[in-house]
Amino acid sequence: MADPKSRHPKNAPGRWFVDGSCISCDTCTDISPEIFGRDEERLAYVRELRPDEEKLFRFALESCPVEAIGEE
Ligand code: SF4
Repeated sequence: MADPKSRHPKNAPGRWFVDGSCISCDTCTDISPEIFGRDEERLAYVRELRPDEEKLFRFALESCPVEAIGEE
């Protein structure tokens, strides 16, 4: 389960986040490059909350192999 206490510092403010356990697998950024960005180390973070794309966010959350994506 993603830990909100270790949110990536680049996450957009709001309830969706990626924590510090990302392993840079690119799954979430492939699912939605609009919602998820990659930092210079290819670690993912939430670039933008897009309530109209909640299904895509949930699909990415369920697809993350290390459960680094979360919702508060
Ligand atoms: S799916 Fe998970 S491990 Fe893969 S890049 Fe996204 S947050 Fe990181």
